[in-house]
Parts: sequence; structure tokens; C-alpha cells
Amino acid sequence: MDGNDLSNLEKCLLQSEALHQYILETNVLPKEHELLKKLRAETKARIPKRALMNVPPEEGQLLSIILKVMNAKRTIEVGVFTGYSLLATALALPEDAKITAIDVDRSNYKIGLPFIQKAGVEGKIKFIESEALPVLDKFVQEMNEDEMFDFAFVDADKENYSNYHERLLKIVKIGGLILYDNTLWFGSVATPMNPDMPKYFNEDRESIIKFNKELAADPRIELCQVCIGDGLTICRRVA
Ligand code: SAH
Ligand code: CA
Repeated sequence: MDGNDLSNLEKCLLQSEALHQYILETNVLPKEHELLKKLRAETKARIPKRALMNVPPEEGQLLSIILKVMNAKRTIEVGVFTGYSLLATALALPEDAKITAIDVDRSNYKIGLPFIQKAGVEGKIKFIESEALPVLDKFVQEMNEDEMFDFAFVDADKENYSNYHERLLKIVKIGGLILYDNTLWFGSVATPMNPDMPKYFNEDRESIIKFNKELAADPRIELCQVCIGDGLTICRRVA
């Protein structure tokens, strides 16, 4: 495999690509919202090399069900890109919900925004263009108890996951959920480091391996490692 091109991996952690296709065709794609499909297609058309960064549709559906079951009203997303997970979240939440969405770069969000607007859910979203850490620090300083989040989805720079975790444990309610994406890092967490892979890939792999260990030892949460997409860790704050 060409070390610089990850696009052919398609984040399939399952037994086979055929099994992934089966799941997609049988129950995921027939249920995917029309505007999520369009956002995904537009991302692929405009930035094909990075389109794989959108969470896959089966993961969007998991987020949607979790949000509905827990009756979430206030959520935060760190790492928006073109907004696939953001639109999935906005579609799942009730009319009076509020989503705080942070990304250091607004340009990709602009690609997804027309679909968010067409879905009629833009009013639920407050987009903040910034490095996430200072925004989270500000929330930690200023947030009132009644403003705390029910749910957080983290899908940004992997080397900061530990830092985000410390902040989120102060601004997500006890009993609330914090989800971390890409925690199986193409499966590479379980195989020896491959020096042929690009530097950033191996650095992020290191960060994720360290972070997974920290989460497993963290008494403030209970957790569940889900093998969907590129690996999703669901943490429930218990202290
Ligand atoms: N959840 C998105 C994909 C996110 S991709 C989806 O489903 O479409 C990761 C995003 O994290 C990128 O858009 C990148 O700009 C953003 N990001 C990276 N480092 C960041 C930082 N330090 N602060 C905020 N956002 C960051
Ligand atoms: Ca991701």
C-alpha cells in the first residue's frame, strides 16, 4: 500500500469488505437521510482525498439512536470538518436543542452548511471557528451548572484527546456521555508500528494507544469500545 494514501482502507475493521458492504446495503444506506447522503457525496466530489474523514453512515445512525434514547438537549462536537456527524446530530435532536460545534477551520464546514440549512436544523447549531482547547477552557471557567452538556462527540486532533477529556469531564454532566472517534486507528493499535506509514499516522497511532490506556484506567468514567467505523469509545461520566 502507498503509505500516503489511506483512501483504500475505507476504515473497515470488520472481517471482510464484503461484510461491510452487506451491512451498508442491507440496513444502513436505505435508512440514511437524503441530506446526509448529499453532504457525503458533495464532500467526496469537492475533497475526495479527505472525504473519508466524515464519520461513516452506520456511525451516524448509532449517534442518532444514542442521542434520542438519552433525550439529549445540549451537545458539543469537537471536529466538524464538512459536518456529517454534526448534521446527523442535529437531525436527531429536538427543536429546542443546542449544539456547540468547534473546528479550527471553517472552510470545510461551508461545504456541508447548505445541506444543514436545507434540513432546517441550522438554528440548533452554534459553530465556533477556533482551536478547541481554549474554547473548552473558557467553558470550564464560565459554565453554570444548568448549562452543562448531556453529550460530547470528539473527532479532532488525536494528540489532544487527553486534554479534551480533562476539560469535558468538567462540562459534561454526571451521567452524560463523551464519545471519542477513531480509537482503533485503522486497526493499527493492535499491530506493530509500521515505519512505512506516514509520520502523522504513526504519531496519531501513538496518541490513540496512550489515550485508550488512560481511559481504561480512569475511574471517573465507565466505557464501551465499539467496533464501528474506525472505532468509537463511548464514555459515561460517573464522577
Ligand atoms: N466529525 C467530522 C469529521 C471531523 S475531521 C465529520 O463527521 O464530518 C477532524 C476535524 O478536526 C477537521 O475538520 C479539523 O479541522 C479539526 N481539528 C483538528 N485539530 C483541531 C483543533 N486543535 N481544534 C479544533 N478542531 C480541530
Ligand atoms: Ca473521525
